[in-house]
Amino acid sequence: MKRSIKQTMEKTKLAILLSKVKHVKSEKLACVLAIQTEALAALHDFMHRRRFTQLMPVVVAPMTDPLCHGVHDIEIDCDSQKLKLTKSMILHKFMALMSDHLSHVYIMSPCVRLEPKACKDSGRHLLEFTQLDMETKDLQKEGFMSLIEELVGYVVARVKKKCDCALRLLERELIVPKRPFKVFKSADLKARYGKDYEKIMSEKLKEPFWITGFKREFYDREDADYDLVWPEGFGEAMSGGQRHYKYGDLVRIMRDRGYDEKQFGAYLELARRGLLKPTCGGGIGIERMVRFLTGLPHIRDVGPFTKVPGEDIVL
Ligand code: AMP
Ligand code: MG
Repeated sequence: MKRSIKQTMEKTKLAILLSKVKHVKSEKLACVLAIQTEALAALHDFMHRRRFTQLMPVVVAPMTDPLCHGVHDIEIDCDSQKLKLTKSMILHKFMALMSDHLSHVYIMSPCVRLEPKACKDSGRHLLEFTQLDMETKDLQKEGFMSLIEELVGYVVARVKKKCDCALRLLERELIVPKRPFKVFKSADLKARYGKDYEKIMSEKLKEPFWITGFKREFYDREDADYDLVWPEGFGEAMSGGQRHYKYGDLVRIMRDRGYDEKQFGAYLELARRGLLKPTCGGGIGIERMVRFLTGLPHIRDVGPFTKVPGEDIVL
């Protein structure tokens, strides 16, 4: 006798599969996706109006974002070349701006980050997600922060206006944030609230705000970086900054922090030849933005096929 599909799956996996199906078929998810669709259209319109040139995603390449927190690396053998799956397109957007014919670029960039299972209950970590990744030669820190404040205000206002029904069904009330957003220094917040300062502040505040002054990847200037944080406990929305681009600075920081320079050989060669340009930018997580817009408790629920660290993946 032919075995039924039911028998071919182990019981716990089957239960997960069926709960996924329920989620995929739910009206709630359809509302979330309607809000996501409007938000994406708003983001593209905004970038287009600001004359950002859209680049296509890079998914595999010999180098990718080193990140400043540990995620598992994914390397693929391709005809004896070692290629990595993209954690972010940060280095590639800098390299695109070597062109004298491009001033600002953006990408809807897929990022694969195999985050540790300890992040399972954070409510905001996925193994794969999308960033609106932007970079410009024409703005510096304050100008870029102001651009992002405008972008966030535009997206929230448009979703509030166009997705009235979906927001009502999700019982989400959106407030269009007042500009300028508040700005805090990470050192001050850490002294006051300890290491969980971002979470505490995010839970306290009712509108998006900035935190500046981090020490992170080799390409970010510590004196000109920023994180945008969603309010109401939704946490980090975007990271960015003005960038290091001079060979001497890049090598000095890499050596100070123990980077494997060989991994970034091609990039350093471009810097050594003076081809990289001073730029400023940032990347906003789309799924986290959708979670904020919809008010969902967990990022797992923002899409049909989201993958949460430490959870069984069935689809
Ligand atoms: P990063 O440059 O690492 O700060 O990433 C840029 C943005 O992508 C963050 O500010 C988040 O909004 C989003 N993001 C980063 N990691 C994740 C993740 N594991 N799952 C979902 N979104 C993420
Ligand atoms: Mg970040």
